[in-house]
Amino acid sequence: DIGIAAESNWFEIGAPQIPPLDPAGHKYDRGLVHCLAGKMPGAIALAARAAARAGAGYVRVSTSRAIDGLPAAIVQTDTAVLNDPRVGCLLVGPGLGDIPQVLTLALTAPRPIVIDADAIGLVGEPERLHGHDVILTPHEGEFVKLFGELEGSKPERALAAASRSQSVVVYKGPDTLVASPDGRLGFAPPAPAWLASAGTGDVLAGIIATMRARGLPPFEAACAGVWLHGSAAERAGPRMIADDLIAAI
Ligand code: AMP
Ligand code: MG
Repeated sequence: DIGIAAESNWFEIGAPQIPPLDPAGHKYDRGLVHCLAGKMPGAIALAARAAARAGAGYVRVSTSRAIDGLPAAIVQTDTAVLNDPRVGCLLVGPGLGDIPQVLTLALTAPRPIVIDADAIGLVGEPERLHGHDVILTPHEGEFVKLFGELEGSKPERALAAASRSQSVVVYKGPDTLVASPDGRLGFAPPAPAWLASAGTGDVLAGIIATMRARGLPPFEAACAGVWLHGSAAERAGPRMIADDLIAAI
């Protein structure tokens, strides 16, 4: 019993309403996603490619070296570009490794941000995120690293985490939930078990960053990303790998 009937602000996530493109728009109007790379750049390359496939008009990656699978044109080595007001969403965490300075740098930019993977464990105290515009995308292990072993059901833990961090929390797993600090809770439709493979979480982070950069508010962007990710997995089929999932978006 997950109590959906009891709580009017708990609901099943449905197909998203994504704002239509402006026929006269240019690439920045379609959303600029800025990714920060780290020790294992393959993961951020998956996220960046997913962000582009999800409809971002421009995807950039800050890195100190060339990354396989990414066109050189999108690679940036100058961190001043983080403060570009056109950046619709930053993404930090996939493949980051143990480099807390990259998270700190990202949090100095007054931009919406998706914090995934290794970066979640580097936050420290959830209260550090107050005043920022954050979507967190932890799996179970990352959730416990940031929030500890919380009491209660998964919906209750998700809502407690969102409240404590004042961030939208996408609590991943076979039964992904999206919790908002305002008490809204979205239940993802059942996702296929073959999503449990390496790189699929990086793809999700990239899709959510694009939804945010396209102008959806944080909770709506997270729900839209979760829905698109699950439905792409259905289309990609049971032998999919992360590359196929990107192609199916
Ligand atoms: P990560 O743990 O970051 O690699 O992300 C894995 C992705 O796969 C997340 O979107 C999870 O919600 C999803 N996932 C993990 N296990 C399952 C499962 N058994 N069934 C459906 N989706 C899953
Ligand atoms: Mg992950």
